[in-house]
Formats: sequence, C-alpha cells, structure tokens
Amino acid sequence: MSRAIDPVSAVDWRTAATRVPIPSGLWVGGEEREAAGRRSVITPRDGSTLSKVAWADASDVDAAVAEARTAFDRGPWPRMSARERGEVLLRFADLVEGHRDEIALLVSLEMGKPIRQAWEVELRAAVRCLRFYGGLADKLAGEITPTVEGELSLVTREPAGVVAAVIPWNFPLTIGCWKFAPALAAGCTVVLKTAEQSPLSMLKVAALGAEAGLPPGVFNVLSGDGIVVGRRLGEHPDVDIVTFTGSTAVGRHFLHYAADSNLKRVHLELGGKSPNIVFPDAPDLDEAADSAAWAIFFNAGEMCTAGSRLVVHEDVAEQIVDRIVATSSKWQPADPLLPSTLMGPLVDERSLGRILGQLEEGVGQGARIRTGGSRTLQESGGPYLEPTVVTDAAPDNVLVRNELFGPVLSVQVFTDEDDAVRVASDTEYGLAAAVWTTDLGRAHRMSRALRAGTVWVNCYEEGDMAVPFGGVKLSGNGRDKSRHALEEYTDLKTTWVKYE
Ligand code: NAP
Ligand code: MG
Repeated sequence: MSRAIDPVSAVDWRTAATRVPIPSGLWVGGEEREAAGRRSVITPRDGSTLSKVAWADASDVDAAVAEARTAFDRGPWPRMSARERGEVLLRFADLVEGHRDEIALLVSLEMGKPIRQAWEVELRAAVRCLRFYGGLADKLAGEITPTVEGELSLVTREPAGVVAAVIPWNFPLTIGCWKFAPALAAGCTVVLKTAEQSPLSMLKVAALGAEAGLPPGVFNVLSGDGIVVGRRLGEHPDVDIVTFTGSTAVGRHFLHYAADSNLKRVHLELGGKSPNIVFPDAPDLDEAADSAAWAIFFNAGEMCTAGSRLVVHEDVAEQIVDRIVATSSKWQPADPLLPSTLMGPLVDERSLGRILGQLEEGVGQGARIRTGGSRTLQESGGPYLEPTVVTDAAPDNVLVRNELFGPVLSVQVFTDEDDAVRVASDTEYGLAAAVWTTDLGRAHRMSRALRAGTVWVNCYEEGDMAVPFGGVKLSGNGRDKSRHALEEYTDLKTTWVKYE
C-alpha cells in the first residue's frame, strides 16, 4: 500500500542548506555576469553570512537596460507570436517547479520564511503565475470600432517596451513573478532589481528562464542598493515602465524619478494597515479569531496585506482577543528550516529594531501589550520577535497608524456598523480589508463603504491569479495579477485606414 509522503518533511533541510548552490553573479544579457562590487548576503536564520554576491552599480544598470532595450527594439521577443511567448513561459513554469526544493531553500535562507511556506506557498504562487500568463499570452485581443464606409479603425495592444521591476524581500519570488510574467507575456523586456536582503532565489529563476527559451536580454536580474540601482532604473531614459512594490516612501521617489526624467509610467503597490472587522454575527467567532491570528502572524506579519488592525465589536472583543492570545503560543518563532515552523525570524536586525522602537513608543502613548512584545531566541543569532497583541491604543497611536511590517496586531473596538466603517477607514492606506458577518446585506454594505483594493468576507487573504491585486489611497495605483496586469504592460495604438 502506498503512503502519501509529505514532500516538505521528507527533506532534511538543514543538511540541504549546507549543499545548495548559491548564485553569485548578476543575470544580464542571458548570462551570469560580474558586477562593479560584491556584497555579503546574511541569513536571518542565524545571522551568518551565506555568500558574497555581485552587487551592481549605475554602470551595471546601464548595461542591463541596454541589453533589454536592444532585445526589445531589435530582438525576436516582441515580434514572435504571442502563442510562442506563452509556450516559453509554460516551459519556464515547468522548470521552476522542477527546481522547487532548491529555490524554496534559497528563499527560506535569504529572508527567513519557514521552509514549509516557501515550498508550499511561495513556489506554488510563482509557478501558477508563470502558467497563468503563459496561457493568457495569446488571448489579449484588440478592437475594431464603428467607422464610416471606406474607413477602418484598428485598436491594438502593443508591448510597452522596457520594464523595470523593483521589488521587496517579503515574497522575493511571487511579487517578482507578478511583474515580469505579464510583462514578458505582453512582449516587453525586463530589468528586475531584487531587494538587498533577498538577491538569491530570483537569480536562480532567471537562469531557468534562459533555459526555457527566453532570448538574451529579455529578462535581466540585478542585485544592488535601492538608492543606486533602483534610482538609476527610475531615472533611466530608456526605461518605459517602472513597476514597483515596496514602501509608500520609496513609491513616492519613483514618481519623482519619472517626473524628472522621461515621464515613464509608474505602477505602485505600496504599504497597508488593513482592518479585519469582526461583527458579533460572524459565522464562527473562533474561526474569525484563528483567522485574525493567521492574518497577522503568517510570514511574520511581513505582509503588505497583513490584517494588522483587528476592528472588533465591543460585545465580542474580549472573547476574540483572549483566543488570539491563547493561539499565539503556536506561532512562537523557530528555525525556519524545520518543517514544523510556522513563524521564522524577521528579515533583519534593522527591521527588528524598528518594530521594537515603535512598540516602545506605542506603549508610551498608552497601548497595552497583551502578549509578546519582546525579542526571542537571541542565542540563535537571528532577529526573532514574539507574536504580539496590543490593545487600548488610541486612534492616533503609532501602533494603529503605522505599518509595522511585523507580527504585531493592534486591536480597535467599535459599537455599530457606522462606527465600524469609521474606525476601519481612519487610515491613509487602502490595500485590503475583511468583514466577518452572516448578514448578507451588511457584508455588501461594508464592501461598498470600504475604500480598499480587496475586501474579503468571512475569510482573509484568499485569492487567485485571475483576480487583480493592488490598492487605493497611499497603498498605490497599479494592479498585479489577472488579465488587467497584462494590459498594464501594453500601449493602446490606433491605426486608422482610409481604403477608398
Ligand atoms: P522598500 O524599502 O520600499 O524597498 C523596496 C525596493 O525599493 C527595494 O528593492 C529597495 O532596494 C528599493 N529602494 C529603496 N530605496 C530606494 C530608492 N531611494 N530609490 C529606488 N529604489 C529604492 O520596502 P521593503 O523594506 O523592501 O519592503 C517593505 C515594504 O514594502 C512595506 O512598506 C510593505 O507594505 C511594502 N510591500 C507592499 C506590497 C504590495 O503588494 N502592496 C507587497 C510587499 C511589500 P534595497 O534593496 O536597497 O532595499
Ligand atoms: Mg531595503
């Protein structure tokens, strides 16, 4: 009798980590290249150095953009049939899937994500994204609009050119795939800058792209500093689109770079402070509480969509908070290379210091820590933080206002539906929100009232490649995923023909 094998638990990841090949160059023009400098990559697992990797400067950016420009202006990629481009992306997906263990390990090592989540969530999302745009590549059609006799209008979608993608470290593969896969499917060429903390996994993916059949220069990956490489991409006259995911502050910089250079289009996916709103008539209050814990502790809270504000009705607030506090014990951080680990370290010491500083400030402003709030596992050498729940924070408390980007939940209480909308909407951000209720009318009223890119009802963080993802207000202006993202990497062209 065959027994199902758990593919994550079946691997000894700590031993595998000592053997995994670590990419060391830049990926430019279809090959690994040296860079102006080198930089140590540190794993937050234990603070040790993984390797030294090539670190780009502005001249390396210029070389990569020149490759992408040439590949777009004169290479085969934008000119081949959309179906053939789709086939390359489908082969690319198969190759990434075939290297799932190796790439998941690189993700876990570089930014501390538990190996189970790297393998099951991050790699699955990356492969699904490549397959989705591989399949969609040849399904984007233009329009023929009504005209008079003897004239014909054609509205076509043209690939928009050279795309610069600048990404964060919290989902080093998924977020990058959400950008380069639709851009490539549309016929664009790409220069992608990874985040300083997580340069490794995407370099491996780029090499697989070449193996899948991407022509040289179509997909280039740079490691380097934002202020040097990101900025140069933002200002570059030969870049046509910047697609960025990261903080609101850096998103603003990209708008300035574009305004001061060639007015390139800038797609922004930025931060969030998303409200998770629980009414007393939630289908199951225990499930709502467990989901609220997941929404803030998954990926150590390093999620732009983290449910970082629990907005809960006063009648059930204590019950829900008590359950989240009790549940938090199962989220205590541990070595990310153990398959049983649910929460690993934060990405780096700087992030830990920043969050501890804001916790101290928030407590000084009157917030009460109900559980957690301290560094833990210090002997490991990594920046681990306890899962943390905070109550009694006033609306202007830093813990209610700021995106902490860590496992810190702020609890806010409301009295009725109008009050729930008021409390939930009192934020500069508009990325996501959730509502827990069995009242169908209330669910729809709330969804209409909340200004956010996504509203979940009786769930959190559910989704699919087919639905768009992005925010409003200071959470950004672009949409990743879905057919809409494919359109973002095209320009509309009108061809008007007078044939008589
Ligand atoms: P970040 O500091 O904004 O960095 C994002 C990227 O921008 C990195 O590659 C970074 O390079 C680069 N960068 C930094 N300064 C730059 C500059 N002056 N000019 C050009 N590029 C620059 O964000 P992060 O710390 O990586 O990630 C956390 C933030 O991202 C949070 O605010 C979170 O909400 C947001 N986020 C949003 C989403 C979403 O989909 N909406 C998803 C994930 C994360 P370095 O390598 O030098 O850091
Ligand atoms: Mg950074």
